[in-house]
Amino acid sequence: MDFSFTPEQEGFRQELRTWLEANVPLEASQLRHLQPQASAEDLQFLKAWQRKVYDGGWAGVSWPKEYGGRGASLVERMIFDQEMAAHQAPGLLNVLGLEIVGPTLIVHGTEEQKKAHLPKILSGEEIWSQGFSEPNSGSDLGSLRTRAVDHGDYFIVTGQKVWTSLASYGDWCQLLVRTNLDAPKHQGISCLLVDLKSPGISVRPLRTLTGDSEFNEVFFEDVKVPKVNLLGEKDQGWRIIITSLMFERQGLGFYFTFAQKRHYEDLLEKVRQSQRYGSPVVADRQLRQKMAQAYIDCELLKLNNYRALSRLLRGNPPGPEGSIPKLQWAEMNQRLQELAVEIQGPHGQLYQGEENARDGGYWQYGFLRSRANSIEGGTSEIQRNIIAERVLGLPKGR
Ligand SMILES: Cc1cc2nc3c(=O)[nH]c(=O)nc-3n(C[C@H](O)[C@H](O)[C@H](O)COP(=O)(O)OP(=O)(O)OC[C@H]3O[C@@H](n4cnc5c(N)ncnc54)[C@H](O)[C@@H]3O)c2cc1C
Repeated sequence: MDFSFTPEQEGFRQELRTWLEANVPLEASQLRHLQPQASAEDLQFLKAWQRKVYDGGWAGVSWPKEYGGRGASLVERMIFDQEMAAHQAPGLLNVLGLEIVGPTLIVHGTEEQKKAHLPKILSGEEIWSQGFSEPNSGSDLGSLRTRAVDHGDYFIVTGQKVWTSLASYGDWCQLLVRTNLDAPKHQGISCLLVDLKSPGISVRPLRTLTGDSEFNEVFFEDVKVPKVNLLGEKDQGWRIIITSLMFERQGLGFYFTFAQKRHYEDLLEKVRQSQRYGSPVVADRQLRQKMAQAYIDCELLKLNNYRALSRLLRGNPPGPEGSIPKLQWAEMNQRLQELAVEIQGPHGQLYQGEENARDGGYWQYGFLRSRANSIEGGTSEIQRNIIAERVLGLPKGR
């Protein structure tokens, strides 16, 4: 494998670096606690940041130009993630739109749907959420029960979704619904593009371990959804689900690779400066081994993502191998965040807002938040099943 970049790709990197140096808004330490679900100021700040990235021509690096993207390759897209992390730039707010809904629309959407939504996803005018999970349907999405009844020009949707991230301030939702009760469970599902301002929709935030209300319950009571908002064919939504999940793992894989390296470097800096019970933390042999493991983890994640990238550059769609970096990242991030709290000794017990909390409780927040990494985007058990069955070709578990 050739790890070098072409002169054009290096030119892209240089241009982006110049732009980021001039435009990344604040010192990294002030950007750490942005909580758009809790603070109107943070939400506005992040919306304005995404708009700035879009106006600068950097949103949707690998998306087609006709829909507002830059029309570059996935290599430039990866360089974008790398430089954003290196410059400690805030993440883009519309993450589900950018990584899941937009790429799925590019593959399955009608021309009208693409024109209507893709540029607004890039600019952040439309914040998207993903309405897949239900109270009794998560890993086994085929069992979902939210109904959509066909009324000719429109559907009437009734049911409930849960764990819907971003819905409390979102504008649109990629919604999975059952449109055929008589078909086998993986058939008879459809995918709708739903305006969250439609009458009959109510959103109730759920509070998580961190104290944030990052995700929500979303209720649909006789919600009218125009037929033009059907994505793909009626009853053929399973194909859309697979496309979306593959894009989710692939897109976030790039992002996590470099964000994780950034976390590691921040922690290394911290370890070098920290004292615990009067001795330098770096003197602790076990801790040095854990830091070495964290470095190895970051390198492995990067190489697995490079491997996935090579496949994509050969023209293959994202496939089940995207589960490898998802699983690796979930487990390594949990280890890294735990280590960051461990090195603080007794201070590790102090949380955001408490006096004497180190770095304002930044690592404690990360530690609690990381517990969700092995659930969100498909649990680690499910990723292991996918790797076993669909990457390694082992017999089905059941
Ligand atoms: C922070 C966060 C954000 C989320 N955001 C969204 C979102 O925006 N939109 C959305 O639709 N969903 C979202 N989810 C939901 C997430 O996708 C589901 O929680 C996840 O898929 C698991 O489903 P479940 O919670 O119903 O658990 P279940 O599927 O009930 O699983 C329970 C346990 O059983 C295990 N298990 C289940 N089936 C198998 C099997 N076949 N083999 C082995 N073990 C198995 C699981 O690994 C898990 O440990 C989010 C979740 C989190 C934590």
